[in-house]
Amino acid sequence: PDKTLPDYLRETAAHFGGHEAIYFLGKTLTFREVYEQALILANYLQQIGLQKGDRVSIMLPNCPQAVISYYGVLFAGGIVVQTNPLYTEHELEYQLNDSGATMLITLDMLYPKAAKAKAKTNVKHLIITSMKDYLPTVKKWLYPLMQRKQQPVMVKVEERSDQHLFSKIMAQPNATEPSVEINSAEDIALLQYTGGTTGVPKAAMLTHRNLIANTLMCAHWMYRCDKGTESILGILPFFHVYGMTTVMNLAIVQAYKMILLPKFDVEATLKTIEKLRPTMFPGAPTMYIALLNHPDLARYDLSSIKVCISGSAPLPVEVQEKFEKVTSGKLIEGYGLTEASPVTHSNFVWDGERVKGSIGVPWPDTEAKIISLETGEEAKANEIGELVVRGPQVMKGYWNQPHETENVLRDGWLYTGDVGYMDERGYFYIVDRKKDMIIASGYNIYPREVEEVLYQHPKVQEVVVVGVPDEYRGETVKAFVVLKQGQQCTAEELDQFMRSRLAAYKVPRIYEFRTEIPKTAVGKILRRALLGEERKKE
Ligand code: ATP
Repeated sequence: PDKTLPDYLRETAAHFGGHEAIYFLGKTLTFREVYEQALILANYLQQIGLQKGDRVSIMLPNCPQAVISYYGVLFAGGIVVQTNPLYTEHELEYQLNDSGATMLITLDMLYPKAAKAKAKTNVKHLIITSMKDYLPTVKKWLYPLMQRKQQPVMVKVEERSDQHLFSKIMAQPNATEPSVEINSAEDIALLQYTGGTTGVPKAAMLTHRNLIANTLMCAHWMYRCDKGTESILGILPFFHVYGMTTVMNLAIVQAYKMILLPKFDVEATLKTIEKLRPTMFPGAPTMYIALLNHPDLARYDLSSIKVCISGSAPLPVEVQEKFEKVTSGKLIEGYGLTEASPVTHSNFVWDGERVKGSIGVPWPDTEAKIISLETGEEAKANEIGELVVRGPQVMKGYWNQPHETENVLRDGWLYTGDVGYMDERGYFYIVDRKKDMIIASGYNIYPREVEEVLYQHPKVQEVVVVGVPDEYRGETVKAFVVLKQGQQCTAEELDQFMRSRLAAYKVPRIYEFRTEIPKTAVGKILRRALLGEERKKE
């Protein structure tokens, strides 16, 4: 596709202008409104100096402003830098400096953090919005999302030459499209920082073509529904590439309604599904697990759901089967990574055989193969190696990191850092991340395999398996376990269970029971935080 993302919003507004684009806690906006407001913002950003290729950080939870700002920046020819609202001052500063952002769009409640960062970075302008710009009252449960506090610090932001109020900008008359030449294949639309579950964040440079290609693949392979017919639950944050593509951009391209929830809350999610009847629900395994564990699950009608796509981490087969029983739809495992906009594989939805425990086959236009870890040659069927992928959704490279780019991009092939295999029929399986592999007494152990077995224990709700240093074995296997509500269990009980199901060298030697496990914004388990705690103990 040679079109840009703004081209798609313009077309959707032309053909489906009166359709609801966004539902946000009772407030709705049509596609025409989203388009017009994005244009007003784009013109304003240009007036205050935005030039083509300038970076603009958007630090917002899911709300109408997040969509309008994203498309506004793109219409103005800028590059979006997605920023997690829960970043600490230090993380924010790092990202602003690294990306060289000159503008920052955020919420009034995040103003103190934004203003401090502005003083220490290249940011020249703050654009400040408020939940009140779209809602009559700010719901209390939104506070912790924005300030990690129960009691918010209410902030009154003044208008200045370097501080602009979103509400004032929107009060300007309707604007026309700015004229900016955008080359879809070359021009970067987005700097997307990798999840950071394993190390220092790097920004993937994703072009308009990368993002559109992945969105169109999603529309044609996952959902195959007519434009303007569906509604999609937007819980995955749009500041992460997964929610951005599979909810926001998909909805703009396909004229689907997005039902936004700015935070994952089990009860709010169940109520929203019952009341607003979305047909699609992309999520992460931890979300489906949490919903399944709600004691009153059976009381809710979830039958509107036709398709769920689960990505970002392995989906336990048990969870998939149970969740399909409580909805009338399919829960399909997908696979992807930030560097690929993000999706490269998924299991079949409509026709074709689904294979449990597999991430399925590569999406249209996407090539994939397994490279042997020993020889560096293409592996045979069922042989374990590194998954590499090539396709129009694969990034241009890492921002300002040519060395890192060379490491992962070779002849257009993206080295994913994930270990897996392909069977004779071309279905792919992820075994684990290269980096997460545990080496104990010379044996390779993949945490995921051990976790899958622990999930079969009836009292277990959530687990993470990591390698911890061990004097004799080099590394040994440790499991963090969260039990289901009201359950009691001992390490001995788990040990017996595991020994009857796994080779002895894979069985965890240490169990730690916890009430919760730290997670990222998309609900991915933060192994790094758990490993960090382990190292501190040494
Ligand atoms: P960082 O790159 O900094 O470590 P991150 O890995 O969380 O952070 P993302 O791009 O958000 O960054 O996540 C991509 C990774 O998520 C993949 O490389 C893979 O390890 C994992 N993943 C995604 N989908 C699946 C899946 N279905 N099964 C197993 N792992 C998956």
